[in-house]
Amino acid sequence: MSWMSVEAAAAALIAGRTVAFPTETVYGLGGDARNAEAVQAIFNAKGRPSDNPLIVHVESMEAAIAIAMELNVIELELMQRFWPGALTIVLPVRRGVLAAEVTAGLDTVGIRVPSHPVALELLRTCKLPIAAPSANRSGKPSPTTAQHVQDDLGARIAGVIDGGACDVGLESTVVRVVNGKIHILRPGGVTIEQLLAHGYEAIYVRELEDSASVPRSPGVKYTHYAPQAEMEVWIGQHGFNIGLAELLKNECMAFQGDGQRIACLLFQDTFQTVGELKNVRMFSLGDRNQPENAAHDLYAFLRTCDQEGITRIIAEGCTEEGAGLAFMNRLLKASGHRMRLV
Ligand code: AMP
Ligand code: MG
Repeated sequence: MSWMSVEAAAAALIAGRTVAFPTETVYGLGGDARNAEAVQAIFNAKGRPSDNPLIVHVESMEAAIAIAMELNVIELELMQRFWPGALTIVLPVRRGVLAAEVTAGLDTVGIRVPSHPVALELLRTCKLPIAAPSANRSGKPSPTTAQHVQDDLGARIAGVIDGGACDVGLESTVVRVVNGKIHILRPGGVTIEQLLAHGYEAIYVRELEDSASVPRSPGVKYTHYAPQAEMEVWIGQHGFNIGLAELLKNECMAFQGDGQRIACLLFQDTFQTVGELKNVRMFSLGDRNQPENAAHDLYAFLRTCDQEGITRIIAEGCTEEGAGLAFMNRLLKASGHRMRLV
């Protein structure tokens, strides 16, 4: 793999190869969405199950309309209001425009216009719809730096454009408009509050997350974002409290007795109260009232834990307001829904 310029990456995409590029959410692994072999190469590089559809990135609303059909007023408004940005809209796909593999055989496609200037420049240069899931090996935390991509996909892809660290740090919000209501299939960079503020009815369709249920959207049934360590999410029922800090110290000591290498991901107030714990790797998630900071750092922290051979992670949860909803969604998935109310 090599570090690429936008021009080289565009040429590689046109030639049917796969390249990783920065977006405002996470790094994407792109391929020409019309080219079945290129799309297959994305699935192969990631080790992704073929029934998990890919999001298609385009440069403009017009380019989206060329791929999707039967758009209603709300869908058009969402495009105007939130694009370019971290909102993926699931729409009926026109027949024969994209490789069938992109949609995993569904009659819908998830589309968005990213806002990262490098992603936009790449799309404008290659003039292709680009299928791009996150540029990580399937199941691992998504990459938020070019180095993360290199670590995961190395020789498996043609190259990566280095655009620095991603702003949001978590994936896009995936929505579908059903009978005039916005169903959030996956919470992400655009919050439910932002959608409600425009007067839309929006609900988070939680049952889709349940891996035991029959998925209505294939992508939601797989485990995701997981570090190598066993991870438990601690949910303080009253936010920060002293009792939580005490419990945490005791728990860490007990685990260390078992020879575990422990890491704690804590909001700043808890972090400060607990203080440094001997032989425990401590990460601050920042202010619990600004969960976008926690969202921004989560995947990078989980990857650091993997690199440092951490075997046990205790991560503090927060309320599901604003960016907290997407953060908690990823945290719970990363932990296999292991949680403890404290
Ligand atoms: P990623 O794994 O980061 O590529 O995320 C892709 C997400 O978009 C998955 O959670 C998919 O379920 C969702 N998605 C993509 N295309 C569709 C679609 N046609 N219908 C429903 N969900 C989709
Ligand atoms: Mg992904």
